[in-house]
Amino acid sequence: MLIKNIFIMNRKCSSQALYDVIVIGGGPAGLTASIYTSRARLKTLLVQSEFLPSQVAITEKIENYPGFPDGINGFELVARFKKQSAIFGTEFIFGDVESVRVGKKGQQNMWQLNIKDGLEGGIKKYNCLSVIIASGARPRKLGIAGEDKLIGRGVSYCAICDGAFFRDKDVIVVGGGDTAAKEALFLTKFVKKITLIHRRDRLRATKILQERISANKKIELVFNSQVIEIAGEDKVKAAKLKNVKTEKEAIISCDGVFIFAGLLPNTDFLEGLVALDEKGYIVTGLDMGTQAKGIFACGDCRKKLLFQVVTACGDGATAAFSATQYIEDLKGIAYK
Ligand SMILES: Cc1cc2nc3c(=O)[nH]c(=O)nc-3n(C[C@H](O)[C@H](O)[C@H](O)COP(=O)(O)OP(=O)(O)OC[C@H]3O[C@@H](n4cnc5c(N)ncnc54)[C@H](O)[C@@H]3O)c2cc1C
Repeated sequence: MLIKNIFIMNRKCSSQALYDVIVIGGGPAGLTASIYTSRARLKTLLVQSEFLPSQVAITEKIENYPGFPDGINGFELVARFKKQSAIFGTEFIFGDVESVRVGKKGQQNMWQLNIKDGLEGGIKKYNCLSVIIASGARPRKLGIAGEDKLIGRGVSYCAICDGAFFRDKDVIVVGGGDTAAKEALFLTKFVKKITLIHRRDRLRATKILQERISANKKIELVFNSQVIEIAGEDKVKAAKLKNVKTEKEAIISCDGVFIFAGLLPNTDFLEGLVALDEKGYIVTGLDMGTQAKGIFACGDCRKKLLFQVVTACGDGATAAFSATQYIEDLKGIAYK
């Protein structure tokens, strides 16, 4: 039932209409924002890429989002958010936002989004008074020899998507944070052995995850080391490591390399529209406002301390509240 609902697309939505708010992103931040703006009776359209999934939708189990003491599958959680948003009237489309431009002459205070249609392929223009950017982030590549060539042939950035292909195989997991630790634990359901490589001398992951890693006999930890090359022709055969202290190199035979080396924000399409920090994250105020009037940002695409579902939802609610105030001011109906 829930899974069916995530694919519901509202066919009434139209590039001719003037939306109060267009939300870019169908992850926790964007969906929360759309629940709030729809409940504020703002005409809301949410656009999400068909090709770039919400990070939470590819997470097997979320156990630190309040209200789910037994944890919840990430795809199901996001499907629930979407169902809730649809109930309050949000319209949904699949598409990739290619640019956001100021409205044409005579259309002050309007923003125009150029959206590549997810189903038909052409570009459609959508107009709105306010934009909430919730475009999240994607995995960062290591940028090493063999990585690009072997993506989908043993190199992966998503355990839930690819883990089952590595039943009884030996794999390497790269990274030392929460995501690397969680994904390594998930992979132990399938694989024979995991070598977890981290460039520092200890894991950064939350203590409870570190305890589970230490207790799992399938996982071997290799610290102070970096993967510098992935070898194989048609599929991964081995990885070359370098000890960052001794500079000694070693080769480990393996069938897969799962990389969790941080994130890159999905902000390329914003092109000088809003201020970005040196890593490409959107700079916002406490109200989630950007330096562009009427444009707000929330979730993993913005510069902040903690990148989690719960903080993405909090950001989304704040961005929606600010957008609502902005629009009601524009329409002269603000409650003062
Ligand atoms: C493997 C993994 C495990 C994790 N585990 C946990 C956990 O246990 N607990 C926890 O709290 N957090 C966890 N996280 C982090 C959590 O998933 C993120 O913090 C959260 O998903 C951020 O939400 P978001 O809405 O900002 O972005 P995302 O969930 O990344 O959603 C971004 C949305 O933007 C859309 N989009 C991007 N660019 C465009 C564009 N140009 N046009 C249209 N749409 C676009 C995408 O389609 C997507 O719908 C995990 C992350 C990963 C990768």
